[in-house]
Amino acid sequence: MTAQRTHIAALLLATLLLATPSQGQPWQQPDSSVTLMFVGDVLGHGAQLKCAQQPNGTYSYQRCFAPMREVFALADIVVANLEVPLGGAPYTGYPSFSSPDALAIDLQWAGVDVLVTANNHALDRGLKGIQRTSRTLDSLNILHTGTAHSAQARQTNSPLMLHHNGISIALLSYTTCMNGPTKHLPPYAVNMADTARIRADYQRAKSQGADEVLMFMHWGEEYQRTENAAQRRLAQWLQALGIRLVIGCHPHVLQPLHLTPDTDTQKGQATIYSLGNFVSNQRWRYSDGGLAIMLRLERRKGRVCLTHGAAIPFWVSAPMLSNGTKDFRVFPIYHAEATGQRFGSEHADFAQFAADTRRLLDSAGHGFPEARYDVFTRTWVLPWQPTPKKIEPITTWNIKQWKEN
Ligand SMILES: [Zn+2]
Repeated sequence: MTAQRTHIAALLLATLLLATPSQGQPWQQPDSSVTLMFVGDVLGHGAQLKCAQQPNGTYSYQRCFAPMREVFALADIVVANLEVPLGGAPYTGYPSFSSPDALAIDLQWAGVDVLVTANNHALDRGLKGIQRTSRTLDSLNILHTGTAHSAQARQTNSPLMLHHNGISIALLSYTTCMNGPTKHLPPYAVNMADTARIRADYQRAKSQGADEVLMFMHWGEEYQRTENAAQRRLAQWLQALGIRLVIGCHPHVLQPLHLTPDTDTQKGQATIYSLGNFVSNQRWRYSDGGLAIMLRLERRKGRVCLTHGAAIPFWVSAPMLSNGTKDFRVFPIYHAEATGQRFGSEHADFAQFAADTRRLLDSAGHGFPEARYDVFTRTWVLPWQPTPKKIEPITTWNIKQWKEN
């Protein structure tokens, strides 16, 4: 090892040793922890189908999701809302969706662990579509909840029990709306929001040993940037029942979000009224991106505590290519900015979404600071991680110093 390298190694070691705990006051050191991440509506419009189709006729979404892999890798469990049935061919976009199985396969490839499926498009290919989606996800070993192909399947996946580091989380997925009649559907097919059913699922989750119950609720009004009174009432009802983590989807735009962490005397809660879209061909202001929301749970002396939240805004780029197809790709905004990425004629839309989303986080994103991407270490800096002491930038002056040493 050269003298210069030894010096750099010593500098890095000193940086690690000097690392100090960041915000939050560890009133006790955690015995174990789990970090959850959520993204919103995964849609499958016609232009997305065209983009995903390969020359040999198969489908791939890997190019689209690849820039998000490093974001999904930050969490222990990643959940997304699959808003299209995997109904088999012919594949169709809006208004009656059916997407290729590759959509789910490539979400899993990107790092998504769980898909929630109770939403207003579940019935786009009828009961058969619901059943095919549920069976396909089972065969791909992708965890899912919200719809089911049989009464027995519902029994297994609603609530969906998730275990990590000795912490058990029960995930529920319900919808308040459906495009199509539900009167003759068997009760196992879709979780339609109904307080008696939710209460029964909640009780089953507790009897199965859930430390926390988390509700993914499909609700609200499309394109409304604040929650409505019905959302607020339902959130309060869920929280009074004991479900203190409430995550919303469906409006296709972001809505206010609140996190009150636990303290040693007070029980906290998190409400995210709408995560916005994950990927879609909705190319207008407020709908062309969304938030990846992180929640951190820590077990401290036996008790599971809600300690931190974080937000990672992302934006969907979809430039038109010369062959007439759009090139959909989902980019984490902070990383794109930090590395000086430009989006050509779309750049103004990118900057607009970034500014709008930060305005929301500043005004109605209580408890969800934006995670930063550090170009120097090529890592994301999360609010609960130790913050490294500022590393001196490399200048001709300190290179000279290293050489002299
Ligand atoms: Zn919806």
